[in-house]
Amino acid sequence: MIIPKAGKLTPKQLAEVERIAGEFDCSILEIVGRNRCIYAILGDEGRELMFNRLRGLDYLARVDLIESPYKSMDRKSALAEHQVKVGDTSVGEGGPFFIGGHCTVDPAEPNLYLETAAALKEVGVHALRGGVWKPRTNPYSYQGVSKALEIVLEAKARTGLPVDVEVMDTEQLEIAVDAGVDILQIGTRNALNYSLLKEVGKKTAGSSTAVLLKRGRHMAPPNEFIAAAEYIVAAGNPNVMLCPRGTMPALDGYRNQPDESITPLLKNKTWAPIVVDPSHSVGRDEYVPACCMAAVAYGADGLCIEAHIDPAKGIGDDPKQAVTPAAFAEIMAACRDIWPRRYQPDSLG
Ligand code: PEP
Ligand code: MN
Repeated sequence: MIIPKAGKLTPKQLAEVERIAGEFDCSILEIVGRNRCIYAILGDEGRELMFNRLRGLDYLARVDLIESPYKSMDRKSALAEHQVKVGDTSVGEGGPFFIGGHCTVDPAEPNLYLETAAALKEVGVHALRGGVWKPRTNPYSYQGVSKALEIVLEAKARTGLPVDVEVMDTEQLEIAVDAGVDILQIGTRNALNYSLLKEVGKKTAGSSTAVLLKRGRHMAPPNEFIAAAEYIVAAGNPNVMLCPRGTMPALDGYRNQPDESITPLLKNKTWAPIVVDPSHSVGRDEYVPACCMAAVAYGADGLCIEAHIDPAKGIGDDPKQAVTPAAFAEIMAACRDIWPRRYQPDSLG
C-alpha cells in the first residue's frame, strides 16, 4: 500500500512506481478516495528489495506491507481514513445514516412510491431505496422492470435525495450507473458473485457512486464478507458499505437468522461503514424497530429499512415487512437516542 506525500502521484511519479513494481512482477492499482489517492501493490508484495526501492522515493509518505487477506478493507489500511459519502452525508458521522423505501417499486402505482419518498424526506431519511429489478426465489413472481427505474429517478428529482437500487447483472449495472443511481445495492444472492463484484468496482472506479454490499445468506465468517467487498475496492471503488441482513438457516419465527450482532466483529476488522438491513433479517414490520435499535447499539453506522406509505398496497416484501413513515420517524428517534452509547472499537493506538 503506497501513500504519496501529495494527494495524488503525478503521471511521471506513477510511471516510476509502476516500473519498479513491474520489475518484481507486481502492478499498481490507483484507488481514488474522496480526499486523496492511494496505490495498492497487486501481486506478491512481500519483497524486501521492492519495498526498499519504493521507500527510497522522496515523494512517497509511506509504503506499508499489509499482511491481510483484504488489504484495502483492513482497518490498518491507509483507506481507514477514507470517508464513504452519499450525497452530502458522511456515512456514520454524527448519527446513524438512514436509507428507506419500498422493497419493490410497483410500476403500475408510481404515486405510491412518490408519496412514500415525499413522506420519508419529511421525516429526514438520507437516501431512498427502491427495488427495480428483483431477485425472486420463484421464477413466476414479479421480477421487476427497467421502467420502475424512471419512478425512482422521479422521486430523486422531486426530493433531492440519493437513491439505492439493486443490480443483479452487468446490463442492469450499466443502466443504473448511466442513470445516476447513487448507491448500487448488491444483494445477498450475488454477494459471492466475484465477477459481478469486480465489474461493479471497475464500472464505478473513481466515481462518487457508493456500493451497499449485502451479506450472503450462507456466508459464515466475517472474513468472507470483508473479502467480497475487497473485490469492489481492489477494482477501484472504495465507497463500500457492508450490510448484514440475516443469514440462513432461519431462526424459527424470523425470516432469517438475525445477524446485527456481527457488527462489532466487522468494525474491529474493517474501516468500512456497517449499514444493517433489519427488514430482511427479521422479516416482519413489528420486529423491525427492535432490530434497528439493537443494530445501532452494536455499533452500526446506518440502517437500510423497507418502508411504504401504505404497506398493504405494496408488492414484493412490503405488505409483510415495510414500516410506515410514522414508524420510521420513531425508529430514527430511538436510534439517535442510543447512538452516543453504541459499541465502538478501541482505536488502534
Ligand atoms: C432487497 O433489498 O429487497 C433484497 C432483495 O435484499 P436481499 O438481497 O438482502 O434479499
Ligand atoms: Mn425486500
